[in-house]
Amino acid sequence: MNGRHNDPMAASAELAPPQIRWDLSDLFSGIDDPKITETWERCAVRAKAFEDTYRGKIEGPDLAAGTLASALEEVERIVQESAKPIGYAHLLFAADAGSPEIGAFMQKQMEKASELSVMLMFFELELQAARQDVIDLLIEEPVLANYTHYIDHARAYSPYRLTEKEEVILEHVANTGSRAWVRLFEEVTSNHIYKLKRPGSDEIEEMSQQEVTALLHDPDRTLRQAAADAFTTGLEELQRVLVFTFNNLVQDKAVEDKLRGFAYPEQARHLSNELDRETVDLVMRLCQENYGLVERFYKVKREILGLHELTHIDRYAPLFESEEKVDWDSAKKIVLDAFGSFSKEMEARAREFFDKDWIDAEPRKGKQGGAFCSYNTPDTHPVVFQTYLNKQDDVMTLAHELGHGVHASLSRAQTYFNFHGTLPLAELASTFGEMLVFENLVEAATTRDKLALYASKIEGVFATVFRQAAMFSFEKRMHDERRSIGELPPERFGEIWQEEMQAMFGSSVKLGEQHRLWWSYVGHFIFAPFYVYAYSFGELLVLSLYQMAKATGPVFSDRYIALLRDGGSKTPTDLMKSVGVDLHAESFWRGGFTAMENLVAEFERLWGKMIDD
Ligand SMILES: [Zn+2]
Repeated sequence: MNGRHNDPMAASAELAPPQIRWDLSDLFSGIDDPKITETWERCAVRAKAFEDTYRGKIEGPDLAAGTLASALEEVERIVQESAKPIGYAHLLFAADAGSPEIGAFMQKQMEKASELSVMLMFFELELQAARQDVIDLLIEEPVLANYTHYIDHARAYSPYRLTEKEEVILEHVANTGSRAWVRLFEEVTSNHIYKLKRPGSDEIEEMSQQEVTALLHDPDRTLRQAAADAFTTGLEELQRVLVFTFNNLVQDKAVEDKLRGFAYPEQARHLSNELDRETVDLVMRLCQENYGLVERFYKVKREILGLHELTHIDRYAPLFESEEKVDWDSAKKIVLDAFGSFSKEMEARAREFFDKDWIDAEPRKGKQGGAFCSYNTPDTHPVVFQTYLNKQDDVMTLAHELGHGVHASLSRAQTYFNFHGTLPLAELASTFGEMLVFENLVEAATTRDKLALYASKIEGVFATVFRQAAMFSFEKRMHDERRSIGELPPERFGEIWQEEMQAMFGSSVKLGEQHRLWWSYVGHFIFAPFYVYAYSFGELLVLSLYQMAKATGPVFSDRYIALLRDGGSKTPTDLMKSVGVDLHAESFWRGGFTAMENLVAEFERLWGKMIDD
């Protein structure tokens, strides 16, 4: 299982990256597949019939439970069908963002989806406008049992909905407004060429963003500096477009929030996350209070690396070169073994991704950066996307995305409206999967390798918990200032970014001037405002939950699988209750920080042991 540590081939030979491409033929055969047009035509016919049957019936006081249930079942079927070409277009685009044909195809699918959602919009608006006393009575009826969470969640937006005419206008203009800006950001960043000059060479190497940022993990400090130079220069070249895009999207959100009556920038996100401001602010405050853990870790890392000072180019420096390469087959075995040691069901679900070609892992030009698992629909199947470069981090990414994959696979027990988990629990299975892989790797490792594994795990956890919390503060200030002062100059973005990130590191890492531009490639600020706190949330939650799992023993894995199978059929609070967790309890969250402190303490201990040896 730890072949990558012991196998001399793995350590010395240059490994070719895997030629693993996904097979999307279960969705469609290509952008010309006639099934795509047929899907839209069928959806339009059904949406028209749906409107004829139900318009005016949902918001009235005489609404019957059976009527509402039939309407929900039909609208759910239509939405599920229309999700297929849209999802397919996004997958093709992620795999080849440079292709104009695919870009045009995706745009067309988005426009079709808009047309359809405009036709169906009346339903949700009527549901939201219905009287509370009427809904309270209906929701008790067994025929609506599958939709209680959907109804409650939809009605939470009631105070912030506009009239149907206004909603239709907003939906239409979004395709050339906010969504167009998001697409511009994605196209510009994934096709930009970064020019790397390796130390001691005069040649210029052209690289994608993914490739150049991967070099920030290289053991050679001069190469990391060269990568940081190339990355920074590339971002400098894009600054005009990126700053303008950010300013526009932030203002676009401000305008929409004002129209809808949201009181503060992150409120809409809390609502969609089904979390209250107090809980989120509590977790963010606890993160800031625990920044000291970051400082403790990087002080030891500086000693290990033997550097006088750590800067932004050293954050991801590996501790030992032997930790470098892991080929695809080893990665597959590592992940499946780890999942299997916790639950056979989990292993079987993950194995299906390999057996049925549901993974795209090959590095290619034009392929978007990052990694994701796309759930698709309960009647099709999920897929995983990543760029596998034979790094240890890539194994953890695979574990992460396959964790999502298992969650998606188990959630296929639900109907479409209950299929996707709510955001705060979206990272539940991914982080859990990473933890399993980590523990399995550590068990068999030597002290030296343990130290490296702990460092990598801690850095991963910090990037998720503390970095996302610091990014949340950045995002909050950026939105607040745009609202109160006006358009932000490029330097101001850099100032806020630097302040928030430096606060996290304390005196342990000195972020250099280059780092001021590094806010501008973070896609989450662009396509999902305030998404970032869900990462901190999810990671802390799992760290705490994982301790519970170990304390509880084998019976926990059944409860956990049942939790994943519940998908998004309940609120996060109710889902967590099913495994004995109270999300409002400060003590629960403190458990996550204790788990982190244990990791850091073990890391310090291992380093002390190594010096003594
Ligand atoms: Zn994830």
